[in-house]
Amino acid sequence: MFFLSRSDLDKKFKQLRLELQSVGISDELRGWSWENYPVSSPHKGLLLSVSELASRYCDTFRDIYLRRVECKLPPPSLKMFEGIVYHFIASESTVRVKKFIFDKGLVSGSDLIEALLPQSKSIAEMAIENTESNIGKIDDNIAFNVLNKASKLYRFLIVQAASQLDRALTKFPHIDVDSLINLAIPPIVERKVDGSLIGLSKELSVDIYAPAYAVADIKTGEVRNFHKYALTGYALALEADEETAVNFGLTIYVRMEEDRPVPTIHIKHYLISDELRREFLEIRDEAFEIVMNKRDPGKPSTCPSFCPYYQVCN
Ligand code: SF4
Repeated sequence: MFFLSRSDLDKKFKQLRLELQSVGISDELRGWSWENYPVSSPHKGLLLSVSELASRYCDTFRDIYLRRVECKLPPPSLKMFEGIVYHFIASESTVRVKKFIFDKGLVSGSDLIEALLPQSKSIAEMAIENTESNIGKIDDNIAFNVLNKASKLYRFLIVQAASQLDRALTKFPHIDVDSLINLAIPPIVERKVDGSLIGLSKELSVDIYAPAYAVADIKTGEVRNFHKYALTGYALALEADEETAVNFGLTIYVRMEEDRPVPTIHIKHYLISDELRREFLEIRDEAFEIVMNKRDPGKPSTCPSFCPYYQVCN
């Protein structure tokens, strides 16, 4: 994830810190209060994933019933396919840049571009193959289209990394390889977090933007109002597991358009406020109630056409 500007983010977090100072966050709504209501898990024998709770396409929670009681998974869709491909590209490009710098030492941005840019097609093909082996094969024309967009995303990320690399090298002439990697690659690290203390999965993968200790989530589809709940779930889980305060979250929207040479990137920042925490915990408790009682909550008055279960229910 080379595309985040650290200075832009830091400005945003400064504003959020002021908001935090004025409204505060209640101790009883921190993840470390997992022994007491309302944070405590409604049932110790059940764990749900953050994404299934937070993806609130369905107002009545029928998606939870279908997945957990009827054991029906949503059919694979193009959006799902693209999401997996682009996440693969983001993570693979990070690994390749780090490996190249560790192997070669103090290299310039142009060295990085010359070495890694020619791999764009093979990495994009690898992303498609990996995704097809996970969720099934898609139409050849669609696969070709996604392949081109994946290759564009990879090239964009490598160029961003090269530019950050040169910037770090020109600013710090005596820099060592470790520090160079830290400066050239934005400090978002993936952490495994045990969310079981509050009824969430035991092995959550949480991205953390280290300077502000904020949770981050990359989305490759449309902006949805419920995306903030994923950040809230991760923040609560992290607080429960590590007893460290997590006050902020950012959702990073990456959109690849066929007719645009580079992705569009849009970031939404949140204070993980009392209100968000209460809303997430209410969602969790309602989902638990449906699964524990095996209760089909029925359909809402209208089902959004973009709900992953649309073909199953309609
Ligand atoms: S299709 Fe309708 S009822 Fe089914 S999960 Fe989606 S919103 Fe709920």
